[in-house]
Order: sequence, then structure tokens, then C-alpha cells
Amino acid sequence: MKNASELLEFDAGHLWHPYAALRNTPARFLARSAQGTTIETADGLKLIDAVSSWWCVAHGHNCPEIVEAIRKQSEKMCHVMFGGFTHEPAIELGERLVKFLPKGLNKIFYADSGSISVECAAKMAVQYQFAKGHPEKCKLVALKGGYHGDTAGAMALSDPDGMHTLFRGIMPQHYFAERPNCRADEPWDDRDFASMEQVVAEHEGEIAAIICEPVFQGGNGMWLYNAGYLKRLRKLCDEKGILLIFDEIAAGFYRTGPRWGMEHAWGTPGAAGKDCANSGEDCAAVLPDIMTIGKALTGGHMTMAACVASEMVADVITNSKISAFMHGPTYMANPLACAAAIASLDLFENRDYASRVAAIEKRLRANLEPLRNLENAADVRVLGAIGCLELKAIPTSDDILRVIKETGVWLRPFCNYVYTMPPLITSESEVDRICEAIKMIGQCEPGPVSDDEFHE
Ligand code: PMP
Repeated sequence: MKNASELLEFDAGHLWHPYAALRNTPARFLARSAQGTTIETADGLKLIDAVSSWWCVAHGHNCPEIVEAIRKQSEKMCHVMFGGFTHEPAIELGERLVKFLPKGLNKIFYADSGSISVECAAKMAVQYQFAKGHPEKCKLVALKGGYHGDTAGAMALSDPDGMHTLFRGIMPQHYFAERPNCRADEPWDDRDFASMEQVVAEHEGEIAAIICEPVFQGGNGMWLYNAGYLKRLRKLCDEKGILLIFDEIAAGFYRTGPRWGMEHAWGTPGAAGKDCANSGEDCAAVLPDIMTIGKALTGGHMTMAACVASEMVADVITNSKISAFMHGPTYMANPLACAAAIASLDLFENRDYASRVAAIEKRLRANLEPLRNLENAADVRVLGAIGCLELKAIPTSDDILRVIKETGVWLRPFCNYVYTMPPLITSESEVDRICEAIKMIGQCEPGPVSDDEFHE
């Protein structure tokens, strides 16, 4: 058995980590176990996972119900190809998702990661337009400041001036509208939609779909914007025969308060959290034609995502000359992941996460709003179980590590954003501790801009 320092030495020499240089990166923690809100390291540190391990561990780490579901499924069948076979876990998950998802979104393509589900969404949109006799409609419009993943097709839909610029040469070219600037907590200002209208007017004949992250742009800027934008998008897409794709990978599963980010655009503001799918009501407002989900789908226990199309989109593709959808990951509908997702949906349905998230939001507001007064603060943003302190300048990674160790709170700031998206089971006192750590980072002296370890 290697000891901790031998393990870390091998890691530093041979293993790539996300968004990091292979060598000479700041020290990493050797995670040994994780339970509930907390990750324990080999040297005995207990860290509250204030970023839900990149926003997926919604019910907490090693959630007993999900672990048990995976264990049980593993005794029967760990994997079988989904080409030519189907299986109960995939079917049961499908049945559950059809009920759980917004009404009408019920044709499911299982993917193995969020990025892949975005690739599928873009391909479906293009195939839909092809089937409608519009092969020239093969571009998408995305939003500046957005993030949809790291594969080539998903990078091409993410912020054009963000972290992927180096790879422009291998990306398909799409069109971009300005980031919506009207904030979530302001009245909707229709001028905010002018850029999108202009882009669509200029390229109308080429556009298959518009894609956005509903109300919460995560990976490229932790930006929260007004749901009025989504209403305008739906109207514009309907007028122009363009499909609308909502990427709910980050915003979905109660992260912003209601079950889906798009729900902020449903009905009157007071009814925004209404559980449309379960009430059986027709939620007339703002539904996409295609939707992507991932991250919290399995509660962070297995990798799984899905691209979900409306009946209308699926019918057009299915009834056309090329009726097959040409995508098929090796691990599509992996039975272990399906079992984890079913157990995770059980928890989403049986626990009152809307109330829990409301309580988290309240604590985040109470703690983070006063941080506006810090000398280095540029902005504070809170919605649901998302809290972000935007700084004018970034502290050193040494200072960030020191705060993590001192407070026992795992934070992973990127660019100027010190944020938390804690597991939805996080207690109010843990939220207070997380906010204290954010405050301490906000109080650190800014350092030289050089290091990429703390970049998403
Ligand atoms: N879309 C959104 C909105 C995301 O936040 C992310 C991941 N941060 C992705 C897509 C990509 O998901 P994955 O990392 O699972 O490929």
C-alpha cells in the first residue's frame, strides 16, 4: 500500500486534472471518503463540499438510498449495450422522467455526460430542420457568457471569448447574442432582447435553434438573469420556426428554487415554483422543444445525462426519410446509472427540496449581501441554492487553500467568482460556515494573475 505522499507524488507526475497543468500546480487534497455534505481527506481534514462536487451531489455524498440502488443493480447486470437491447432500469427511469419533466418533454436520449447531451441537442435540432426540408438551417444561436460543456460541439456554443478560444479551429461556427443583462431581481426590460432579435434577423435562414441556460449562466460567469428573457425567446422561436433548447444541466433539480430554471418564467412570479409536472395542469408558458439534464440526475453518484425532445420534434425526425438519430455512446443507458437516477428521482419527489432551497437562499442572502461592502467586492448574486461573491481581483491560490484548511469548507473559485452551490441537504449552520469562508477569501489581498488551477 502506498502512503499518502507517494500517492500524491504519482498523481502529480502522471494524472491530468480538470483545467490544470500536469505539473507544478498547487497542492491537491487526497480524498478518502465522502458522506453527506462532507469530504474527508487522507490527512483527516473534513471539508464541507460547498460546490456539491461541481453541482451534482444534490442529496449529499454516498446517499444510502442511491448506494443501495447501485449495489442491488450491480448484482443483476452492470452494463449491456443499448443497441439491440433494452432493460428495466432504462425503462423505469424513462417512465419516471416522463412524469418528472415538464409536460410534453417525453422523448428521451440517455447520454453519458452533460456535454454529450448538449451535442445531441444540437444534432437533433439540425436533424429536425433537415427533416422539415431545411438543410441550410444548421447553425445555432447561443448566448455570450454561456457554458455548455467541453466537447467541440458544446464548446462552440459556449462563450466565444471564454476559456475555449484556443480551440476555435476545431469548433463549428455559430452565432452569439449579447448576454442578457437584466438581472433576476429587476423588472424585465425589453431592450435586453434587442441583440438576440438582431442576430436572428440577420441570420434567420440559417438558424436551427437557440440554446441557453435558463436564468442561470453557470460555468462562464455565475450570472443570474431575468426570466422575461425566456418568454421573449419562446415567442421569437415560435414566430420564426426556430427550435428552443434549454440546457437545464446546472439550473435543474431545484438548484435555482423551483424544479427547473425555466419555471421562473411560468405564470405570475408567485406561481414560479408551481410544480407543473405533477399538478397535471397545462403550463402554457415557456417550454423548450429540447431540454438537457445531467449533473444532479443521479445525485452525483454515477455519470449520466439526457437530451429530451418534445413529441413534436421527435415526430418530425421519426417520420422523415432519415428517421434514425445518429448518436450512440458505448455507455448509453448504463443500468447502474439508471438505477442511481431512479433512486435520486425518488428523493427529489419525496423530499421537500423547494422549501430546503428556500431556507438555503435566505441564509445565503443574509450572509452574502453584506459582503458588497468589502473593498474587493464587485457584486453579490444569490438565487436558490446559488450564492456568488464576484471580486474585482483574485486572491492567490495559496490564500484560497489556507482559507479552505482553516474553515473546513471546500470552495473552488474560478476567475473572479467565489461561489457556493452546496448540496441541497446542507444545514443552515453549514451555510453560515460556507459564507464565512467566502467572506475570508473576499478579504484576502489580491495576487498576481497567473495560475490556472482555480479556473473552471
Ligand atoms: N451544460 C451546463 C449548463 C453545465 O453547467 C455543464 C457542466 N458544468 C455542462 C453542460 C457540461 O456537463 P458535463 O461536465 O457533464 O459534460
